[in-house]
Amino acid sequence: MDSTNFSDLERRLDSHYGPDDFSVLKKAYDFAKIAHEGQLRATGEPYFVHCFSVGLKLADLKLPSNVIAAGLLHDVPEDTTFTTEDIEKEFGPDIGSMVAAITKLGHVKYRGEQRYIENLRKMFVAMAEDVRVVFIKFADRMHNMETLYALPEHKRLRIAKEVLEIYAPIANRLGMGEYRGLFEDYAFKYIEPKEYGWTKHLLEERVKKFGPSLDRAMKHVSNELHRHSVGYVDIHGRVKHCYSLYRKLDKYKNDMSKVYDIVAMRVVVKDITDCYAVLGILHGIYTPLPGRIKDYIAQPKPNGYQSLHTTVFDESGSILEFQIRTQAMHEESEYGVAAHWRYKQGGTREERNVAWMEELARIQKELSANDFMAHLNELKLDMFRDRIFVFTPKGDVIDLPEDSTPIDMAYAIHTEIGNKVAQAKINGEIASLDRALKSGDMCELIIDKNRKSPNKDWLKFVKTRHARSKIRAALHGAQHGLLSSLWGKVKR
Ligand code: MN
Repeated sequence: MDSTNFSDLERRLDSHYGPDDFSVLKKAYDFAKIAHEGQLRATGEPYFVHCFSVGLKLADLKLPSNVIAAGLLHDVPEDTTFTTEDIEKEFGPDIGSMVAAITKLGHVKYRGEQRYIENLRKMFVAMAEDVRVVFIKFADRMHNMETLYALPEHKRLRIAKEVLEIYAPIANRLGMGEYRGLFEDYAFKYIEPKEYGWTKHLLEERVKKFGPSLDRAMKHVSNELHRHSVGYVDIHGRVKHCYSLYRKLDKYKNDMSKVYDIVAMRVVVKDITDCYAVLGILHGIYTPLPGRIKDYIAQPKPNGYQSLHTTVFDESGSILEFQIRTQAMHEESEYGVAAHWRYKQGGTREERNVAWMEELARIQKELSANDFMAHLNELKLDMFRDRIFVFTPKGDVIDLPEDSTPIDMAYAIHTEIGNKVAQAKINGEIASLDRALKSGDMCELIIDKNRKSPNKDWLKFVKTRHARSKIRAALHGAQHGLLSSLWGKVKR
């Protein structure tokens, strides 16, 4: 980056920010600049370049000025003669507490596996206490990834792995699709340079080949929407992230012809009615591929993602994916939880998104550090595995990790249902209790009221920690653990 003028930051801020915002930002800007005076980064640039970049990224997320200010100041206590108390005295308790939290997050003294677990634990705790701190940490780590080339190789690899294993999954869980994609791509580049280069090349070829037909489709769609008097906010193309393509190709044994969404077209409109109107218009001009219409508006993905997807043949016979969404859904899918914090100074917490974080904080508080460490691997598996939605016959939605079985579902609903389940029907047909459920399945659980206890063979195939610990508890007739009872609540 060449310039760190305050005006570069000002220019990123829209009319939602007022004079008070600008004055706190200018003050933080001056303070950080002076505090880091004379320090250099591994890239040879002044240290303040890093602080400023973090501030810009937070401004791009449209976060409140206090968060941007804390971002500008985030390395002051760690790297300068000023302390967190100095920050608090100058900037007040809100900014002070964010800077203190980010400083705490930075101290990790372990190596290897221990380091990894400790890092993860700290991220959970910070996230649960104040999710804004995680946004700052993300912006901080993103700029470090952008400048990772300047570090020695062993450090590059360690940081890249940490980003892939900790930062990207948390970004995903927070619904921050853009951050997740960028984190994964930066990490991929350093961890698997060969595969990265090869995938990137594939992507570039695809974009070159499809560029002209995309431009044509964009004009065509825009004209048709106009003709039907359906207004749109934006139509743009989006290219799949490298790592996400790599994973998908892996799944399809490198058969490119099975991956339809390498380049996709996004239509952003003002409300949900228009989303369906656009879908109808698209299907009027292009032939849709059977089985490729997905209504994530009526049935959102577990991380909250909403859009309509359809894959069509365009006039030239090329396959093209469309994603149709409202502006709010678009922001939600790019920025997730961060979207709820837009412009909100201090703001109230969004219930739906932080419920599971608060549970985590409680679990963390009530367990000693050692217990937490011991349970973490299982917790983490439940947290980060991709989630599926399964329906009960009444239409309730149960959120489960991928590959969960009817037994996992039963325990997610209620321990007594788990202990007494005798049979399962998936989409109306009797299925074995170890069958892996898929998103959208309707699963009916048949209860045997006389059943005394679960079958110990279930332990061989259940996928969730929750079900496993409940089965063990029932078999041992023992008091079930605190952790599992809390974790059960997180799921619903
Ligand atoms: Mn930093």
